[in-house]
Amino acid sequence: MATEYRMAPYLRVLILSFSLLALMAGVVGLGSMGVMRLNSEFDHMTQTDQPRFDHLLHVDRDLFRAQRSVELAVIAPDTMVRSGYIDEYNNQVERTASRWSQYISVAEDGEQEQAMLATYEPHRAAWLASTGELVDLLRTGAVVGDPAVTELLATTGEDFAAARSVVHDLEEVVAESHIVATTESIETTANRTIEALLILLAIGLLVGGAVSFTTYRSVRTQHRHSERREAQQADEARRTAFEAELSQALDMAQTEEAAIGAVELVLLAEVPDRPTELLIADSSQAHLEQAVTTHRECGGPGCEVLEPSDCPSIRRGATLTFEHNATYSACPHMRLRDGEPFSAVCVPVSVAGRTVGVLHSTGPDHAVVTSEDVHKLEQIADRAGDRIGVLRAFAQSQTQAATDPLTGLLNRRSFETQASRRLRSGRKLAFAYGDLDHFKMLNDRHGHEAGDRALRLFSKVMKESARDGDLVARWGGEEFVVMIDDSNTEAAVGMVERLRENLVLALAGSNSAPFTASFGVSDTTMGDDLEELVALADESLLEAKRRGRDRVIAAGSWEADSRDDALGEVTAS
Ligand code: GH3
Ligand code: MG
Ligand code: MG
Repeated sequence: MATEYRMAPYLRVLILSFSLLALMAGVVGLGSMGVMRLNSEFDHMTQTDQPRFDHLLHVDRDLFRAQRSVELAVIAPDTMVRSGYIDEYNNQVERTASRWSQYISVAEDGEQEQAMLATYEPHRAAWLASTGELVDLLRTGAVVGDPAVTELLATTGEDFAAARSVVHDLEEVVAESHIVATTESIETTANRTIEALLILLAIGLLVGGAVSFTTYRSVRTQHRHSERREAQQADEARRTAFEAELSQALDMAQTEEAAIGAVELVLLAEVPDRPTELLIADSSQAHLEQAVTTHRECGGPGCEVLEPSDCPSIRRGATLTFEHNATYSACPHMRLRDGEPFSAVCVPVSVAGRTVGVLHSTGPDHAVVTSEDVHKLEQIADRAGDRIGVLRAFAQSQTQAATDPLTGLLNRRSFETQASRRLRSGRKLAFAYGDLDHFKMLNDRHGHEAGDRALRLFSKVMKESARDGDLVARWGGEEFVVMIDDSNTEAAVGMVERLRENLVLALAGSNSAPFTASFGVSDTTMGDDLEELVALADESLLEAKRRGRDRVIAAGSWEADSRDDALGEVTAS
């Protein structure tokens, strides 16, 4: 495929500017040449053509005056007047000679002029001879009417006419035509120079216009680029600041609930005009729950998708935008929704690498969501997913550290921590200490696996028999404890009795080897700390074992009896 070559604007400006400079240099050069040529033509006109014409005119005039003086001398009334005319004649003859020599000095070497002017001298000499003879005759006193005078007068007239005709011819054929030719040449030179200058100036104007236009376009493009770059930088700065604030808000949340609360605040602050909700599945990833919804007062977005696999955005792992909820290409969960038509954007939320949630944001019908809002929603979804992932992993590791791996109950250490905290709060609490009866035998007869199954079954029964607020834990081996909230030994005995009944039922409904358990119970009326409660319950447990197992004995209910029994035995002996 042919690629279009586009010259860089600065190169275009450079080339055009140089062209303009060259044109201007051409204008100056051409103008100077024209002026020089005109100057030389004017010089020729003023120094040669015009003086030649003037000299010839003077020769003509002086010749005429000389001839007229002679003729006037002929008809002069007296000798004095005649003498004056003769002086005038001589005077004009001299002037004619002087003018003629001035003309000769400016006459050119052209053949025509030289040939013509060469004919003047003989005619002039003849005229001078005839007029000289007539003047001499007049000086002798001859008068008009004398035949000699008449004859000479006629001869001088002819000679004068011949000489003058040469001068006339030179005036007309040479001098005038030279003036006309030089004038035409000046006109032509001036016209050509002006034409060429006008053409160059027109081209210069075009090139100058092109330079200006190209420079303007180049500057405008640069200006737009820099404006766009500044806008991009401002956008990036805004986005970076937003991301930093978002990360800070979520990083401060130490629980999933707190993180979700932070997401709600961020949504209200950053996309205040868009009803938005966060639907997210818990660790089991089975169902989507609405964790956050903004604009509750107007119902919020209200997406009713239940499972992650039912949400197109979660399935594709991509942001989806819908301009109108009721078109055939809209998400089915949106199409079925009642109320005003709306547009929406759905951003998937990934927790620990799995897409298990969606940020669903709605807006006015057919309104195209801005890229800024989409970016914000994607950032919120990303950071929220990351933070929830971290918090879930942390909670899971904490749970693992706090629970017994075989039964899933609290282990002894976390029980001690939590129970001590409850005891310090001053609440009324009861404590039950249970131990499976002859468990060693069960293991020996049915194997360790059966023993483990029995431990798991017992744990389940304990958990189900206790209330939500009670702490149930595996104390170690086949020994279990329960901290019963807001209770005493009497109530605790009742609870353990129910537990033992539940155990019988559970054993009947399972294939586990049958077993029983013995319990001792104590309460906070008998001791202040966990150690005392455990010791009291342990003593009662031992008593339960002593009395044949499979029973529960409360601390404080048997010690007097056993002292009496001991005394009775001593007395009898
Ligand atoms: P008593 O009625 O006096 O309590 O008798 P007992 O056999 O239950 O008591 P003993 O202390 O002699 O034996 C406890 C047994 O519990 C020994 C041990 O093998 C068994 N046991 C402890 N922890 C586990 C466990 O995690 N799994 C299995 N299968 N057995 C365990
Ligand atoms: Mg034991
Ligand atoms: Mg035991």
